[in-house]
Amino acid sequence: MGARPFRWLPLAGSRHAIRCELVAGDVDKTLCGVPLTVPRGCSSNVQWCWPTCAACDAAWRRFEGIPLFPRQEVEGGSARRKATQVAKSGSRP
Ligand SMILES: [Zn+2]
Repeated sequence: MGARPFRWLPLAGSRHAIRCELVAGDVDKTLCGVPLTVPRGCSSNVQWCWPTCAACDAAWRRFEGIPLFPRQEVEGGSARRKATQVAKSGSRP
């Protein structure tokens, strides 16, 4: 596993991604563009239970080339539903 360019930081009610090299006291922005000053000390357990910021998650995935919805099927889904309906009506007496 290589070093990741970002890390998660609890901020303002959700967990945002920030650049890894930031240290306490640095002023920067989260991946979704929220200005922040990196806090000193460890985050509390409660803060780590906050929901992940969707915008930061998407930006991180885009940076690392991870698809947002790798298992999404647009065409296949509707085709399968039609096939199921045919099978159900066909099995009726
Ligand atoms: Zn964010």
